[in-house]
Amino acid sequence: MSIYNDIERVLVSQDEIAAICERLGKQITADYQGKERPILLGLLKGCVPFMSDLSKHIDLPIEIEYMDVSSYHGNITSSGDVKIRKDMNTSVMDRDILIAEDIVDTGKTLDTIVKLLRHRGAKSVEVVTLLDKPAGRVIPFTPKYIGTVVPKEFVVGYGLDYNELYRNIPYVGVLKPEIYKK
Ligand code: 5GP
Repeated sequence: MSIYNDIERVLVSQDEIAAICERLGKQITADYQGKERPILLGLLKGCVPFMSDLSKHIDLPIEIEYMDVSSYHGNITSSGDVKIRKDMNTSVMDRDILIAEDIVDTGKTLDTIVKLLRHRGAKSVEVVTLLDKPAGRVIPFTPKYIGTVVPKEFVVGYGLDYNELYRNIPYVGVLKPEIYKK
């Protein structure tokens, strides 16, 4: 039995992901020059592989923080109800915050979190996302840094789950339809 048998096709390969992390890391390094200890804020759990690989390409003194945010309930549809399950450990007052996200779909999660951080007094709030699914948008939202655009399909792997599984697949793929029907 292999988890890879559940994948119908690869959407973003390991090589493509590596190139994305390098490109975005360089861009962020250039854009954040001279800023005082920017905070790279990962939204758990999906951000973990992306945040880890991306951060190695950011050649700056950054702080790393995490927030556990959920809008999905182990299924393939967003509840649209964004909950903070674990907040970050530091104040964002007057800080430059770069949120790292796995995918932007409806835009509700990031709209909520960006507004919250601004309300808390952050100096700047930007978003870097590995994947953008613009066809899923319910709220207008444009991330500053985008790895690649994906179609309106449910994807798994490289941090993204279905029912908490498949996060440990090293690429982004689409599940076989029979997996959802189980
Ligand atoms: P949004 O609030 O933009 O609709 O959703 C953002 C969150 O929904 C992402 O962080 C991710 O956890 C989840 N999500 C959205 N689309 C997908 C998808 O295609 N696959 C998986 N596994 N999660 C998704």
